[in-house]
Amino acid sequence: MSTTEAPGSSNFIRSIINEDLESGRYDQVITRFPPEPNGYLHIGHAKSICLNFGLAAEYHGRCNLRFDDTNPTKEEAEYVEAIKEDVAWLGFDWGEQPLFASDYFAQLYEWAILLIKKGKAYVDSQSAEQMRVNRGTLTRSGIDSPYRDRSVEENLELFEKMKNGDFPDGSHILRAKIDMSAPNMNLRDPAMYRILHARHHRTGDTWRIYPMYDFAHGQEDSIEGVTHSICTLEFEDHRPLYQWFHKELEIFAPQQIEFARLNLSYTVMSKRKLLQLVNDQHVSGWDDPRMPTISGMRRRGYPAAAIRTFCERIGVGRSANWIDLSVLEDCVREQLNETACRRQAVLKPLKVTITNYPTDKVEELTAPNHPQQPEKGSRVLPFCNELWVDRDDFMEEPPKKFFRLGPGREVRLRNAYIIKCDDVVKDDSGEVIELRCSADLDTLGKNPVGRKVKGIIHWVSARHAEKLEVRVYDRLFNQENPDKAENYLTALNPESLQVTEALAEPTLREAKGGETFQFERVGYFTVDSKESQEGKPVFNRTVTLRDTWAKIK
Ligand code: ATP
Ligand code: MG
Repeated sequence: MSTTEAPGSSNFIRSIINEDLESGRYDQVITRFPPEPNGYLHIGHAKSICLNFGLAAEYHGRCNLRFDDTNPTKEEAEYVEAIKEDVAWLGFDWGEQPLFASDYFAQLYEWAILLIKKGKAYVDSQSAEQMRVNRGTLTRSGIDSPYRDRSVEENLELFEKMKNGDFPDGSHILRAKIDMSAPNMNLRDPAMYRILHARHHRTGDTWRIYPMYDFAHGQEDSIEGVTHSICTLEFEDHRPLYQWFHKELEIFAPQQIEFARLNLSYTVMSKRKLLQLVNDQHVSGWDDPRMPTISGMRRRGYPAAAIRTFCERIGVGRSANWIDLSVLEDCVREQLNETACRRQAVLKPLKVTITNYPTDKVEELTAPNHPQQPEKGSRVLPFCNELWVDRDDFMEEPPKKFFRLGPGREVRLRNAYIIKCDDVVKDDSGEVIELRCSADLDTLGKNPVGRKVKGIIHWVSARHAEKLEVRVYDRLFNQENPDKAENYLTALNPESLQVTEALAEPTLREAKGGETFQFERVGYFTVDSKESQEGKPVFNRTVTLRDTWAKIK
């Protein structure tokens, strides 16, 4: 199933890397995945993870996991742990230790001093509003700050005081001295350091100033010797700034390469919105099986291999791309079709009585775990005269092409006998409550010559069935692009979770958290790893057997 390509084939990033290796600009490939620990990872991050770790592996290089923790007000240790778990689960290895931007705070501070001494950085004391106005616009040049020509000594003194916590938040800021009239707004004396009296999840109260992302990111890459700094397109305009810092500081310069971020239909990916879904309890948490997070998908039963296949299949390019959610769901189906053991469970039960089968008899029928993989073994299905079948497998007035149960019609019970519907029993309101059928007891595991029975349906023994909680999950949003709605919350699918009960074959009682099965003819279901108990599994519907949304569209 792997579609990993050899280095050199396809993908514009590989071409750039190959050129860099051939020209001798770099002699190895070091990449990094740099999440900010301010939320859980989502499927968009998976694209970046697969790309960065994938390239490093292909070129026998290294990929660092580096937490970009420069903003103490939004970051938490909980997110660090969750991110590590997700990257590892996706199958990637970051080597000995994860890295943290906060480990470089002392070095970044020294570099800031160096730039001040070179006359390339200054402390600005304008108000935020003045600074915004004086920055100009895309069509209007900026205006130099009245503090731009402060002496090196004064700048050093002020910066030292900023660091010591002598000033309130927002009163001063350290800026790079580049060019207030640069057409690229990022070069109009960007902020390097701000005052922030905030406790950091790793450095505690050591720092009262924190580096801006733009001053930190490129230098972090440089410190780590990252050769190819792969990021999303919105950073293209920041590249000249990162290059300016590398040049002025005379440090190792990585090659930055931008690619288009993943957009997925029926999904929101902004961390702000995902956080709101959690905080306002539209979902049960970051790992709610409907969330586009890696942890949600894992809990839902998406295999890591399916996510990797998806990321390979969508490829990388430079133009904005929208991927239909069904592409991801297809990857999940393909993977689970190979790996999931088959089981029988009925979600909408209708009673069937086999009238010619002894009432006290129970047979133990053998059923293969996978129709194409005998090596997966088999299990035992108890059979008796009382069964459950799915209500949708019966029609009182079936059309010609309906090959399941109807009055007088024959069908095969999967892994068991051919039965014929002789009588339909209704209650007072006219609802069908039972089918009385006769079994052809000569048809176990064989089709007698000349008999054509097209339909096969699933069933469970009513006297042996386990009642299990099943959570039927569907898409969290019912609009293709929830971000387009006036408020994305109005695009929430009210039917994204329906809790119901399954009557299941007895073996399912022993199912363990994280195990996934195909409930034959129904869908793929995974044992919830959080809320299941020993002998009392709760099942999450992972995905339907076929795409049911294509029709709706
Ligand atoms: P924000 O910066 O708004 O908090 P973010 O999604 O950029 O959100 P980061 O933690 O900074 O979050 O992302 C880590 C890495 O994942 C970045 O290198 C970013 O380019 C990449 N990434 C994030 N979202 C996507 C996406 N939808 N597609 C591809 N890569 C993504
Ligand atoms: Mg980011």
